[in-house]
Amino acid sequence: MEAIDLPLIPSSTSVADALDVLEQKKRAGLIVENGNEYTLLYWRHLLQADHDQIRLVSGINDGIPVHLLTHQDAITHSIDLVRPLKSIAQYGGFFSHPSRESLDFALAGATQDVAIVVTRSEAYKDLLASSTGGFKCTGRPVHFFPDPTVKNGDRCPKYPPCRGYIMPR
Ligand SMILES: [Zn+2]
Repeated sequence: MEAIDLPLIPSSTSVADALDVLEQKKRAGLIVENGNEYTLLYWRHLLQADHDQIRLVSGINDGIPVHLLTHQDAITHSIDLVRPLKSIAQYGGFFSHPSRESLDFALAGATQDVAIVVTRSEAYKDLLASSTGGFKCTGRPVHFFPDPTVKNGDRCPKYPPCRGYIMPR
C-alpha cells in the first residue's frame, strides 16, 4: 500500500486540457470526478480518446474505478483517512477484503484540483509518479502508454500481434 497526490479534474474537462494537466503535473495518470464517482485515467486512456477524436473526458467510457473511502470504511478497518501512511497495515486489510479483490485504488482526500489516492501496491504508485510523458507505438492499430511503463525504442508490449516499437507521443 502507498499513497500519492494526483491531479483531479471534473469530467467536463476537454481531453486536450486533461493531456496538458498530465504533462504539467508530471504524473502518469489523473483522477476524474463525476459527482461521487472517481475514475483513474492513465496517459493511454487520454491519448486513445484524443486519437478517437473524443472531445470531453466525460466521453471516455473506460478508466479504472477509484473507491471513495467512507466513514464506515474507516471504522470497519480502523484506517486513518487523514494520514493514510500511518495505517498501512489497516489499508492492507481494506484491500484484502474479498469484496475488494478487483479494487486497486481508493480516494482518501480531495481538494478542488488534487486527489490523495491510496494504491494497493507500491508498483502502482511508482508508475503514477513517473513523469516520462505519454508514448505510442508505431503499429497499426496504434497503442498508447503508460500503463504499462514503456521506454522509447522498446518493442510494443502488445507484441504479438503488434509489431510496433515505442516512441514519444
Ligand atoms: Zn502496439
